[in-house]
Amino acid sequence: AKDAGRNRYRLFEPAMTVATQERMALEVSLRPALARGEFELHYQPRYALDGMRLFGVEALIRWNHPQRGQVSPQQFIGIAEETGLIVEIGRWVMEEACARTRRLMDEHGHSMVVSVNVSARQLAQAGFADEVRAVLARTGLPPGCLELELTESALIEDIERTASMLRELKLLGIRLAVDDFGTGYSGLAYLRRFPIDVLKLDRSFVLQDDGNGSTFDFVKAFVDLAHALGMAVVAEGVETGDVLDFLRAARCDQAQGYYLARPMALDKLEALLAAPSGS
Ligand code: C2E
Ligand code: CA
Ligand code: CA
Ligand code: CA
Repeated sequence: AKDAGRNRYRLFEPAMTVATQERMALEVSLRPALARGEFELHYQPRYALDGMRLFGVEALIRWNHPQRGQVSPQQFIGIAEETGLIVEIGRWVMEEACARTRRLMDEHGHSMVVSVNVSARQLAQAGFADEVRAVLARTGLPPGCLELELTESALIEDIERTASMLRELKLLGIRLAVDDFGTGYSGLAYLRRFPIDVLKLDRSFVLQDDGNGSTFDFVKAFVDLAHALGMAVVAEGVETGDVLDFLRAARCDQAQGYYLARPMALDKLEALLAAPSGS
């Protein structure tokens, strides 16, 4: 019996080891990545559907790994969250996003909103609102130009504590958004407990088109309800002109997606802003 157990163990061991080693290797190189300056922010434009004015950008982290090249956030944000490294990485993202946006606004003379993704681990830090206040003071970014994107799962972790943290953040004058809305479990009524300004509709929410218009009615009713609750609606992952028309007809406020613009490095964003159609 002992032998059989050992054999069984051996059968599964190699695969587990490979996955674990891969994860550990990433984790080991993730630790010094910040100090080595391997992170970079890309920016994806977000447009107001009424007139297609550039409303702002979402800051998305990129990791330029010395051996592996660019590693997707989908591969390392989870590890950063589990290890707690996300707190430090998140601080860098916030500072960098606010400082760069302040400079872009000075150079190009028009206001824009920068959205920063915030993990549950960051939100759970007692001093988080004070940190945000300090970043705004240091960089001189007007509070109304900063939007924090929080996922539904981050909000439901500890409802009372989260609600009080969000109220503290709102007092700073910043904007709060719920990211990936439609992929979690909360409904709109549930979100009323929190001072939320913006709902970002997940791509999957808009794509479930059965061809007989029921998705349209659903999205439209949803947008109307969000508006009645005082929230703006942003659709993400817009890849075609048809979807854009659909969203406009549903009175969605803003959109973001490959069809409009891909996430881009800072120099590309500067070029976009400098172009006559950029404002
Ligand atoms: P997210 O916050 O939902 O960001 C949107 C993701 O969708 C981005 O992937 C973006 O590049 C991608 N995207 C944009 N337009 C389209 C489109 O039209 N079609 C499709 N299929 N995808 C589109 P990315 O940059 O790989 O980021 C993945 C996730 O990693 C983000 O999802 C976010 O959850 C996380 N993330 C990225 N940067 C940060 C960060 O600074 N902090 C934290 N905590 N998480 C981050
Ligand atoms: Ca986001
Ligand atoms: Ca999202
Ligand atoms: Ca997402």
